[in-house]
Amino acid sequence: MKIGALKESFEGEARVAVTPSSAGHLMKLGHEVFVESGAGARAGFSDDSYRGAGVTVVPNASELIGAVDVVAKVRQPSDDEIRQMQPGQTLISFFYPGQNSELLALAKEQGVTAIAMDMVPRISRAQKMDALSSMANIAGYRAVIEAANNFGRFFTGQVTAAGKVPPAKVLVVGAGVAGLAAIGTAVSLGAQVYAFDVRPEVAEQIESMGAEFVFLDFDEASAAQDGAATGGYAAPSSPEFREKQLAKFRELAPQMDVVITTALIPGRDAPKLWTRDMVEAMKPGSVIVDLAAERGGNCELTIPDEKHVTENGVTIVGYTDFPSRMGAQASELYGNNIRHFMTDLTPKKDGVIQHNMEDDVIRGATVTRDHDVTWPPPPPKIA
Ligand code: NAD
Repeated sequence: MKIGALKESFEGEARVAVTPSSAGHLMKLGHEVFVESGAGARAGFSDDSYRGAGVTVVPNASELIGAVDVVAKVRQPSDDEIRQMQPGQTLISFFYPGQNSELLALAKEQGVTAIAMDMVPRISRAQKMDALSSMANIAGYRAVIEAANNFGRFFTGQVTAAGKVPPAKVLVVGAGVAGLAAIGTAVSLGAQVYAFDVRPEVAEQIESMGAEFVFLDFDEASAAQDGAATGGYAAPSSPEFREKQLAKFRELAPQMDVVITTALIPGRDAPKLWTRDMVEAMKPGSVIVDLAAERGGNCELTIPDEKHVTENGVTIVGYTDFPSRMGAQASELYGNNIRHFMTDLTPKKDGVIQHNMEDDVIRGATVTRDHDVTWPPPPPKIA
């Protein structure tokens, strides 16, 4: 089959869905690989580097879409991109079907088979295709780098001839994939790191990384109930639990130099956990990086896509494109996620795609097929 990567049409997006290296792997599966001219430029992959890897470079999006069986992208497609596709063609990209019902209807109408990388089931076998995790890992790392860049002080403590420097105090709220990456990065920079999550089972992971788990004075059984939901995700907290959590954050706010928030609940707006009064209680020069900005933000004062400084001198970073800010690395990892998915779609490595809807992973990620909406999928059979 012919697989081709489009240049991302979303403004400022630096990632690309196929790299010269992942193209080589796709070819080993028997596929021919194409790329739109300039698709990899912002991630540091020139057209010549693709040609050197045996990829055919085509001049524009419509020629690319016209030439291939499978269109690969990072961001969800635009309406125009879907409209250019033919029945039976496959699209593989982030899609977010729950938030994009009109796009889903359009893909159905067009007869496109749409594979949503954000819907790959989070089961062990599919970890190598888990693009949500590979991107969240980058976002967590980059959030700390962004915080360090905006914090006018060391992260690590030092004793020098010119004076003693205390380590920065960093609080990470939400210890999922991004939060754990942020914890690891902040610890490695020498900061004193604290972390909170509603899921009590992450306490051990937080502590094993050298950070301190922020415990709430709350009945343990209720706490577990508040934090746990299916598949390792969080559920909304009860009002009592939330009050305890906010009281704890109010106590911590004046002591923290950096706060990185990553708290999300599937299918909902981000919970507001860092309130205006907490920002006002922070020291001038402190930094908040809100990784939940795209879903409305965990901090009440976050402005999505922007960085601003409050009247009391707290920098709040609300960027929503952290993986794109590390475009080369993010493309390599996302390109690998895609080629692993293509490996499952090409079981005989003979360039022939077998779209096996009995396979949990393929079924889970397929959101439209044969003029049908196939989302939401049934729960995976194997954990
Ligand atoms: P996510 O992005 O949905 O949420 C981020 C974190 O925010 C979660 O840890 C959640 O508990 C936390 N959170 C929600 N509400 C909060 C609140 N009010 N206060 C503080 N924290 C709050 O989650 P994610 O990073 O995508 O992953 C969550 C979990 O999913 C992982 O830790 C893991 O258990 C599981 N997972 C499994 C696999 C796999 O098996 N292949 C892959 C990835 C993730």
